[in-house]
This record gives sequence, C-alpha cells and structure tokens, in this order.
Amino acid sequence: MHMQYIDYYEILGVPKSATEKEIKQAYRKLARKHHPDLHQGDAKAQAEEKFKQINEAYEVLGDPDKRAKYDKLGMNWRAGDEVQFDPSATGNGYTYSYQGSTDFDPSGFEFSNFFNSIFGQDFSHGKPGGRRTRSANYKGEDVNAEIHLSVTELMQGVEKDLRLSAPNVCAACEGQRFNQRGVCPACGGTGITEAAKTVKVKIPAGLCPGASLRLKGLGGKGFGTGAAGDLYLHIQVADPAWLVNGSDLEAELTLYPEQAVLGDRVKVATPHGPVQLKIQPGTHSGQRLRLKNKGLPQKQGLGDLYLKIRIDIPQNQPEDEKALYRKIRDAKAANQHGQEQGVA
Ligand SMILES: [Zn+2]
Repeated sequence: MHMQYIDYYEILGVPKSATEKEIKQAYRKLARKHHPDLHQGDAKAQAEEKFKQINEAYEVLGDPDKRAKYDKLGMNWRAGDEVQFDPSATGNGYTYSYQGSTDFDPSGFEFSNFFNSIFGQDFSHGKPGGRRTRSANYKGEDVNAEIHLSVTELMQGVEKDLRLSAPNVCAACEGQRFNQRGVCPACGGTGITEAAKTVKVKIPAGLCPGASLRLKGLGGKGFGTGAAGDLYLHIQVADPAWLVNGSDLEAELTLYPEQAVLGDRVKVATPHGPVQLKIQPGTHSGQRLRLKNKGLPQKQGLGDLYLKIRIDIPQNQPEDEKALYRKIRDAKAANQHGQEQGVA
C-alpha cells in the first residue's frame, strides 16, 4: 500500500516536544478557527478539510498511546515521503467513516488511509484498548466577562442580569469529541458547546474599577459530578458625568467670570455626595482643581476627583449687568492709560 506520511505535529503547529497541554491548546484554537459552521462557500470546503486534518492530528497526538505509536512508526518517515507500508503489521486498513447528520458535509470526516493503517483496528469502537477513556467527571470551564457600571452602581452596589455565553462540555459526546459513529455532530468535534444563559449577579458596593469578581459556579457546566466552572467578572466603570481614569475622576466645573475673578464657594457633585468647594480669587480657565480622596475606591483608599475650570460667558445678559462690564472696560482703559503715562 502506498500512502503519504502525514505530519500531525505540523498540522497542529506544535513541536515534537510539545506537552499534552500545548497540544490540547493548539487543537482547541485551530478547531474553533476552522470549524466548518463558521465558514461559507469555498472557505467552508477548505475549513472542512482543515478541520478533518486537525481532528485526526489531535486524535493521535492528544492520546499518549497513539502518540507513542505514531512517533515510533514515524521515526523513519519524513513529511511528504511516499512510504511503503505493510498494513498487516499494524492494521487492516479499516476505514472509519461518519454517517450521522451535521450542518456540514460529513463525508469529509473519514480518517485518512494513513491514520487507518496505523490505528484502524484500535479505533473501531467497543474493543478493549481502543478509545481512550477519560474520567467522566470534570470541572466546567471558567468564564471571563466584563460588566460596565455607572459610578453610582459601583459605589452603592447593584444587581444585574448578565447574559453569558459559557462553554459547556458537550453532553452528546461527553466531551470526547467523537461518538460511536464518528465526529460528534452536536459539538462538531470540539467537545465543547457554547450555551447562552442569563445569570443574576449581585455586585457588592465599593469595588475598585478594574477589579475581578469571582462568582463560584457561574461558569461552564461541569460534567458528571464535576463542579461548574467559575465566572470572573471584570468591573469596568463608565459614566456620562465623569471621565473615569482608573480610580480617578475628572469633570468640568463651569464658573461665571465674576466667580473666577472674585472667588466663591460652589457646590460640586462627587461620588461621595455633594461638597462645598472654595474657588480662589483669580482662578484661570483650564485650571485643574484636585479634590483628594473624592474619586473611586482603589486598592488602598480612594482616588482623586479633578475639576477642570471652564469660564462661561452667559448669553443675553441683562442690561444692568452689561452696564457693569462697560464700567470694568472703562476702568481698565483708564488704568492702562495711567500705566502708559507712568512709563513715559
Ligand atoms: Zn460532542
């Protein structure tokens, strides 16, 4: 029998020295990328072919026994070599094909002759020493999600409905990726199904922006007696009233010209309630005032609140106010005239 040697390491893009974990990660990543349901037209056919190769590679490299056998047989082969192969030594060329129904063409999901020559007998189900058996109980996947809170929600705590897409171990194949007829149609051979669910989460008051909240058991479903994974909720703060920069806040504070010139006391909003702020005489437009510890919680203590001064000129001032500005103008002109004479 003539056949092409298949380099499963190359297909998964891992070195020969890759650990089981690295192989699994590489497989997961590629299987998600090339899942046929995610592609259309010509790309779908290509994805199916690629997906088939990836699954076959993982079927071998993901199983220590098969990997050892492959490594041993592969020692004398190089990728691309056409090899003379004696099937009687290792198998009977049994072709394992999938006939179930999936969204994509299942005819692509036969293992290669190369694979069948090595593992054909092993792979036929129900025989001892065949499929690897895993523990039927394992913990669900941990899930990461972001939640956006207003400043008030952060400060006071809030209960929110959160819609999550959590990866669950595929119930149809028990995460084994194959059923007795071949690639599992329920998960497309990834062993994982994405399940959307809505969970109610209670956010306690006073968390730091950027903090992570671990919600036990709200991640992916476990399998068997395995516990569910956890949900890591990353706290983000966005608020129309303030510019949020870590635990610091920034806002504009609008003053009238006379407040800036003469100074004043003004009431400003902070996350901790309103405070009275003293405006110094001669405050400039664009000046930043820092209100220490009036920002959001941080690991230790509180951030600061910055107020950027903006001087607003009111429209349609009443005549008596305008008259006073005219007086200021005239006084200023007289003062300047005096200065010029003094200099001369
Ligand atoms: Zn499945």
